[in-house]
Amino acid sequence: MESKKIKIGIIICQRYQLCAGGKCFRALRERAGAFKHYSKDQDTEIAAYTNCGGCPGGNVEYSPEEMIKNGVQVIHLATGLIVGYPPCPRLEYFKRFIEERYQIPVIIGTHPIPEKYYLIHQRLGPWDSPKWTKILEPVLDSLEIREAYN
Ligand code: SF4
Repeated sequence: MESKKIKIGIIICQRYQLCAGGKCFRALRERAGAFKHYSKDQDTEIAAYTNCGGCPGGNVEYSPEEMIKNGVQVIHLATGLIVGYPPCPRLEYFKRFIEERYQIPVIIGTHPIPEKYYLIHQRLGPWDSPKWTKILEPVLDSLEIREAYN
C-alpha cells in the first residue's frame, strides 16, 4: 500500500472559469482520463485549482508558485485546454514553461474527453496530427467513458 499523499494542482482554461470542477474531481476519484496513471491505492488530493487568467495565460506565470507553497507536487493542465474551440495554442508551451521555471512535472489533461467535444473536433480537424495524437492519448478513454463524461 502506497501511503504518501500526492498533492495535485489544476490549471483550467479561463473560458471555463465558472466551472466547478465536477469532471476533474470525479475523474481523479475514478482514476479516469489523465488521472488513470495514479494507482487506486495512492492517496491523492487536489490541493490547488485556478484558471490561466485568460489569453495569453498570464496566471500560468505565477500561480504555480502558490501551488507549490501549498505542497503541490504535480500540475495538470485541464482537459478544457485540449477540447476548447479552438484548443489552447499555448498548451505545450505552458507545460515546458512551468517545468523549466518551477521544476515540477506538468501533465496535460485531467478528465476524459466528453464525447460531444470529441465528435465536433473529429469533424473540424484540429487534432489531425501526430502531436495531437500524443496529447490526446491519456484523455481519450473508451466511448463508454467519454459518453459518461458528456
Ligand atoms: S485558450 Fe489557453 S491561454 Fe486562452 S484562455 Fe484558454 S488556456 Fe488560457
